[in-house]
Amino acid sequence: MPSLKGKDIISALELTREEVEHLYKVADELKQAFEAFGSLDIARNKVMITAFFEPSTRTKISFQMAMARLGGTVVDFLASVSSLAKGETDYDTIRILDGYDPDIIVIRQKKPGFPAEVAPWVKAPIINAGDGYNEHPTQALLDVYTISRELGKVDGVHIAIMGDLKYGRTPSSLSYLLSKFNDITIYYVAPEPLQIREEVIKNVEGKVRYELLNDIRELRGKPVDVIYVTRLQKERLPDPSMYESLKGSYRIDAALLKELFGDNIPIIMHPLPRTWELDTSVDPLPQAKYFQQAKNGLYVRAALIKEILGL
Ligand code: ASP
Repeated sequence: MPSLKGKDIISALELTREEVEHLYKVADELKQAFEAFGSLDIARNKVMITAFFEPSTRTKISFQMAMARLGGTVVDFLASVSSLAKGETDYDTIRILDGYDPDIIVIRQKKPGFPAEVAPWVKAPIINAGDGYNEHPTQALLDVYTISRELGKVDGVHIAIMGDLKYGRTPSSLSYLLSKFNDITIYYVAPEPLQIREEVIKNVEGKVRYELLNDIRELRGKPVDVIYVTRLQKERLPDPSMYESLKGSYRIDAALLKELFGDNIPIIMHPLPRTWELDTSVDPLPQAKYFQQAKNGLYVRAALIKEILGL
């Protein structure tokens, strides 16, 4: 059986299909256990630090809820009221947090590559909860879990990943994780300035089939099982005027989905938060899976914590 005990989770590229499938089995078991018993006590005496240097709602709360439901303790580092304000560096901050001997540190950072940079000298296993535009491996884990549980398979899936593929970190990690499966087709749908980064294509080349498209309407007549929508990453654009020019340049609503796909609307996913790209008219459709997707983060992250702690 694959073991993640004591491992860092830095990139979705490092995970194997066996590890992922094992995690999903554990996630299913924990979901059932949480529903039956509320909380467990298998992580008693274990402590997880959440160190988020960038804003978060779902990732942070689902990690914290997961540890709470496993019976462990969470200590939260709150960047906004920390010694960062006194000029302490984020490197020193991590060194100090690690010095208190936590069992796991979950890090979100705006510097791409930060978790990989500190991992060699941090004693605790590190989980990358998003590093700038680079990667968000645990989001990919819950995304592929959602696909697998909603469609009953991952192999053979046709997915359109749409929106800000250049400055977003979820399209890269999702592509990497899907590349571990067989016969995957990815349509990257984005206006030219937001198309998927070169390095992502390099990393999936030969492992998935892909097409670059500029508009969702180009999907008409193609087989599509999933549309994964992402927001324009306003905070990461090199020039603020780009936001105004790209705002509204891609968007789905219920009427457009009906027009393009008729009775065969694909499942709709989004890592959230949404802004203008995913209209609320999609919410009542049975294919809208983004709230379930966010909830799945709890089970998948609980499974990851359990496996890293070797419980
Ligand atoms: N919540 C996701 C992330 O942290 C998606 C987003 O912010 O647009 O990357």
